[in-house]
Amino acid sequence: MGTLPSTRADVIVVGGGIGGLSAALALVRQGLRVRVYEQASAFGEVGAGLQLAPNCTRILDRYGLLAEASALGVLPETMVMKDALDAAELTRLDLRDVERRYGYPYLVIHRSDLHGILLRACERAGVELLTDARCTWYENLDGGARVRFADGVVDEADVVIAADGLHSIARELLVQDEPVNSGYVAYRCAVPFEQVAGNDVHDKDVVVYVGPRCHFVQYPLRGAETFNQVAVFESPKALAGQDDWGTPDELDAAFAGTCAQVQQGLPLMWRDRWWRMFDRDPIMTWVTGRIALLGDAAHPPLQYMAQGAIMAIEDGWVLGEHVAAQRAEGGPAVDWDRALAAYEAVRPEHCRRVVGTAREWGALWHLEGVRRLQRNALLRERDVHDYAFVDWIFGPTALTPEDEPEMFRPIPLDSAPLCPPPGAEGR
Ligand SMILES: Cc1cc2nc3c(=O)[nH]c(=O)nc-3n(C[C@H](O)[C@H](O)[C@H](O)COP(=O)(O)OP(=O)(O)OC[C@H]3O[C@@H](n4cnc5c(N)ncnc54)[C@H](O)[C@@H]3O)c2cc1C
Repeated sequence: MGTLPSTRADVIVVGGGIGGLSAALALVRQGLRVRVYEQASAFGEVGAGLQLAPNCTRILDRYGLLAEASALGVLPETMVMKDALDAAELTRLDLRDVERRYGYPYLVIHRSDLHGILLRACERAGVELLTDARCTWYENLDGGARVRFADGVVDEADVVIAADGLHSIARELLVQDEPVNSGYVAYRCAVPFEQVAGNDVHDKDVVVYVGPRCHFVQYPLRGAETFNQVAVFESPKALAGQDDWGTPDELDAAFAGTCAQVQQGLPLMWRDRWWRMFDRDPIMTWVTGRIALLGDAAHPPLQYMAQGAIMAIEDGWVLGEHVAAQRAEGGPAVDWDRALAAYEAVRPEHCRRVVGTAREWGALWHLEGVRRLQRNALLRERDVHDYAFVDWIFGPTALTPEDEPEMFRPIPLDSAPLCPPPGAEGR
């Protein structure tokens, strides 16, 4: 990893993804010396687009990064949900209205652009950024914590933030649970807009086609010069316990019965890589001594709520605000035990709700037969100006448990006013 800086950091962050960098930024803004260790040989992000709801753009604004993010991304006008079999519109969300309601925009951005924005902000603020550093061990000390790397280097600080993702080493050491395999897989692509211009696509909308055991997402990126698509489906090979699951032949088979709009988009998907979808059961203990889990290491979700990266950014923001609150009370030293306790008092419950709702959302999106028709009937009935389903997420990030808003009240599927047409059950 090169030479270890001679000064002791106040905070070590392990993992230089969106979660680690945004946490580093939140803490360096509080005047702390922050050092980030990333296992890869360069800081970067793999993948395509990210949706950032107002609970994230609000924080980017506080960091002074919203203008840059808006310039690199797209502010879509509408989010539309359609049925993947017949392309019928089911419901929509007016994203301009969302911006008026919550005070901050709904933004879509290439994940490498967001990562770059955070990386440059960290560099400007003086975060020490080290690569080729694979952390293999975490341990608590009296009043601090220590990390060890694959090349034998050891470092310590007052606090260690483990932002090392879904397969977190810290989580393995401290919690010892396993990722939960959903059996679903995601294919992605980001292509020049010209390649989809002849298709029935929208350059100002986020469109989600929901179908039996599959869904398909489309939205513009980079000032609508690029078009993002995500194709997600349940893998029969995963269900059968085979190791080689999620292959392109399964992609084609999973979407075989879908509408023309989805069929037009499928050939553009990247076929040389795919993302198997895992989450973890929520846990309420994220802090052990001076080691704190953050981002996907703490709460990896299935991506159906599009809140994974956002929750990671919120985590860092909340921790930074609790450090700031103590600074405001006077004294240069941070009472880390109090700050970490305040972080752990509020974030796990919020993320538990999101991770659980994401699973339920996925189940709802992927219904088939009569259940699909019931879902469609309920979605069509929904008042498009009803924000009950997003108020609890899109509002200001709670700093204390008392600030955490009530969740929405689920509508039972069986309340759908439906008389299913004959033969619909089999679809
Ligand atoms: C298909 C898909 C679509 C998604 N869409 C959205 C969306 O629209 N909106 C949204 O908010 N979220 C979305 N997400 C979720 C989001 O991508 C993740 O929740 C988020 O990127 C997690 O960030 P992280 O920094 O916590 O973890 P990661 O991105 O996994 O970063 C972890 C970092 O730690 C490093 N690391 C790992 N182990 C070590 C080690 N031992 N030592 C040193 N470094 C290490 C890794 O190299 C990596 O850089 C989506 C996810 C998927 C799969």
